[in-house]
This record gives sequence, C-alpha cells and structure tokens, in this order.
Amino acid sequence: MPYLEINLKKIEQNFLRLKKVSESKKFSVMGITKVVLGNPTIAKALVKAGLKYIGDSRIGNIIRMKKSGVNAQFVLIRVPSLSELQLVIKHADMSLNSELEVIKKLSELAIIENKKHGIILMVEMGDLREGIMPDKLEETVSQILRLKGIELAGIGTNLKCFAGVIPDEENMKSFSELAQNIQKKFGITLNFVSGGNSANYNWLVSNADKGIINNLRIGTIIFLGIEGIDEKPIPGYHHDAITFVAEIIECKKKPRYPKGTITTNAFGETSIFKDKYEDIEGLRNQALLNVGRQDINERGLIPIDDVEIMSASSDYIVIDLKDNEFNVGDKLRFHVNYEALLGAMTSPFVSKVFI
Ligand SMILES: *Cc1c(COP(=O)(O)O)cnc(C)c1O
Repeated sequence: MPYLEINLKKIEQNFLRLKKVSESKKFSVMGITKVVLGNPTIAKALVKAGLKYIGDSRIGNIIRMKKSGVNAQFVLIRVPSLSELQLVIKHADMSLNSELEVIKKLSELAIIENKKHGIILMVEMGDLREGIMPDKLEETVSQILRLKGIELAGIGTNLKCFAGVIPDEENMKSFSELAQNIQKKFGITLNFVSGGNSANYNWLVSNADKGIINNLRIGTIIFLGIEGIDEKPIPGYHHDAITFVAEIIECKKKPRYPKGTITTNAFGETSIFKDKYEDIEGLRNQALLNVGRQDINERGLIPIDDVEIMSASSDYIVIDLKDNEFNVGDKLRFHVNYEALLGAMTSPFVSKVFI
C-alpha cells in the first residue's frame, strides 16, 4: 500500500516555532486539523506541544478526536449545517457561524443540553466565501447577545480561499475596526478576533499595525511549513514533515509517443501527448505506481527522486524514470502540497506511517 510518512517531531517543531512567532505578536493559534483528517495521533502531539484550540471543518473529525482522548477546545470551522446541529452542540465547544437562523437553533439546543456554545461570527471582508456583510454586523451581534445557551466568543474572517483575496493592511485594519466598534458599542470583550489562516503569515510577521486582531487559524504552516499566498517554504520551518511514498508495480521501456489517434484521457482532459510530449522515436523508461486519482491528485506531488510525473488515472500514476535504474517493488518518494495531502489523508487506500 502507498503511505504517508508522518514525522511527528517535525510537525511539533513547526507548531512550536509558529507559537513563538504568534506569542511575540500577542496572537493565539487555533490549529486546524482538517487537512490531516483530524488524525488523533497528530492532534495529540500538537496538544502535548501546547496547542489549546483545535479547529476542524468536519464534525466527524472532531468526534473522532474527542473519542480518542484528545484534550483541547474544539471549534467547528465550517459553518454548521442545520441538519447536524445536535452533534455540534454535543461535541464542539465553539463554531464559526454566518446564519442567524442556525445560531438561534444552536441556542435552543444548547439550552436543552444545558451547555454554553461559543459563536465566532464570520464577517465577509472581500473573498466572498463564508460570512455576513460588514453592514449587518452590529444588528446580528445585538440579536446574538439576546440569545441564551450561546455566547459570542468572537468574530472572524477568512481570505485567500475562494476568490484568492490577499490579507493586507487595508482589509485587516477594516476588520479590526469592526471588532473595535462592536466592543465599544456593546461593552463586551471579544476573546477571538480571528484574522485568517496561513495566508496571513506575511502580514503577521510584518510591522503592520495589527489593531485588536488576536488569533489566526493555521493548518498549512504547521504541516507543510509553507505560507498560504505563494505556497513558498517559510525559512526555519520543516517542509518535509509529511512525505508520500508509493511503489513501482510496472517498470518497462515503452515508446516515447503513443500509437494511434489521440483523443482525451480517462478524465476527459487533453492528452499530455497533445501539448507536453513530442512525437519522437525511441524508448522511454516508464513506471506505474500503485496509486491514482482516487487517492491523490498527482499534480500536488513533487518527486524527491530525479523522475518526472507524466499523468495519472484512477488507479495508476505514470512516471518517466528518465535515465535512472528502478525495478518493480522499488519505492518513489514525494513532497506533497495541500491538495495532495488532503486527498491522501482521506483515502483508505493510503496508510499513515508515523516516525
Ligand atoms: C482551512 C481553514 C483554515 C486553515 O487554513 P490553512 O491554510 O490550512 O492555514 C482556517 N480557517 C478556515 C475557516 C478554514 O476553512
């Protein structure tokens, strides 16, 4: 079976480094575990290293972590579905929210369960994903403050996800001012003024005035050591905490160019032989790996060996081995990007090996 090799020590060190940077800026970190499918072993390592808040987008991941004895405050970071609110109240301490109808229902359920559920109200600051429009903030907050069973834990915003809008001094300043107005108007303190995700790293370490923003929700930096805007490695962080390993199951010399009339591949995409590879004579040293798009998007893999990924179907990744000598049974190693990691963590056909 192909596997992810997960180095817990390196993940821990990435978290500790991020924690230090954040603390120097008076920020708290919510560790976001969705890209590792809320893996309890990883979550435990992070909690041991000092993580207090774990955010995950799937309530099922939160339930699994709690059942496995992960001891932290759990935040559901995808706005909840009306159909899952009972589970949310039962298992999550807080949730990100953007619909008053949902918040009212959370309040009703929390009263029944005799619980206090924290609401982090999401505000739309330009990326057009989740969040209420800024001009609705005051009115929504005043309604939330009247509800029992819940408390306004804070407000949050999320950029660089849907539209790709970069967190900058201007939108962060506006967000901080919104939070300040709310605190003043209602005489409350917001525990979380949560400014964003790994795409906020450059802004975090810059000298920009952070206003009263005091929290970031971070996954990518902890697991991959890259910042979220250009996906560039951040110096001082491990970029190889998680690597992907697959096995060669066919290894042959095959013609450099296909024979016959070429149409699209199995996924309806233009064949790589239409643009990327030339119609030339000779043989290529080619291998098939025991993994495919059911498990991982091959475009998110960077080979560590000197080989080239050609393409993939559901069950195979096809590799150009160049001039290297490999045999059936040999393993090839890869760095993963966010999407590849997400897929491989989720696939039951990829083992997770801790070192
Ligand atoms: C996924 C997610 C994050 C974390 O993003 P990273 O890029 O992994 O740091 C933060 N907030 C929300 C709402 C998310 O969905």
